[in-house]
Amino acid sequence: ATPTAIMVGTGKGAEQGILIRGGEALERAQKIDTLLLDKTGTITHGKPAITDVIGLLNYRREEVIYYAASAEQRSEHPLARAMMEEAKHQGEQLQEVAFFEAIPGLGVKAKTHSDLIYVGTSELMQSSGFDTSDSEDVYRELQAMGKTVMYVAREQELIGMIAVADTVKMSSKIALETMKKMGINVYMVTGDNRQTAVAIAEMVGIDESHVMAQMLPAQKEQLVVQLQQEGHIVGMSGDGINDAPALARSDIGFAMGAGADVAIEAADITLMSSDLMAIVDAIELSRATMRKIR
Ligand code: ADP
Ligand code: MG
Repeated sequence: ATPTAIMVGTGKGAEQGILIRGGEALERAQKIDTLLLDKTGTITHGKPAITDVIGLLNYRREEVIYYAASAEQRSEHPLARAMMEEAKHQGEQLQEVAFFEAIPGLGVKAKTHSDLIYVGTSELMQSSGFDTSDSEDVYRELQAMGKTVMYVAREQELIGMIAVADTVKMSSKIALETMKKMGINVYMVTGDNRQTAVAIAEMVGIDESHVMAQMLPAQKEQLVVQLQQEGHIVGMSGDGINDAPALARSDIGFAMGAGADVAIEAADITLMSSDLMAIVDAIELSRATMRKIR
């Protein structure tokens, strides 16, 4: 492409909220034949609402929320926001965090002045030494309803479970239909459990065989590599630290809307909107730009 065509294309993109890093990215986007889309915040609204809070042992619902929200204060994850909001409704002062660690794809670990708290998947709990066997049934049942379920642990004990539900964006369905018409093979890639992921995929017309669930950050990256080795040009959307390695590895990484800084740094194109239609627009802009110069 001529430098002028690239400049015009980049400028047009900026007007539409499509921020392209370098002319090469604009040239490459039209070649995408495979798209890996993250679920939360891209296909869905990314505003999970709490549906169930279950106290284990003698813990009350309010206490489960209190400890979970205390641990999540420094998290950028949409799940954290749901818990923080619920805690705000309860109106208590949360515990101050002395140590915080996000464990991408699994949950968080935090230490307050008085408690060591974990919030996350049953896999996280098991690998941290907690016995989930007594409550695993309920956990799986909630997942079968299409919910994302998190355990809450305090010190040596599992004290509860929090389930949340997210809703799909209607624009996702339309964008996915358009992508198919453009000849692009679309996959949903998520760290969330399979049952939840398949339920959401069905709502927007992604086939079950194209759902990659319970993917840790390194596995998302590995999937990109595998598809590239098969000869595909791979685009990938993401918004969190869990997506950063795959975004960096992909041929074109799209950072969505209010994504985390690390996601934006790893991406080639940042979309001001978190709407999937923005990816369609970006690819079409690239196609139009390249058409002009050929
Ligand atoms: P996605 O690929 O949908 O963005 P993630 O990889 O961020 O999902 O997370 C995968 C799973 O790990 C979540 O469904 C949740 O169970 C757990 N998890 C991730 N971050 C957190 C957090 N901050 N608090 C609790 N659980 C979390
Ligand atoms: Mg995400």
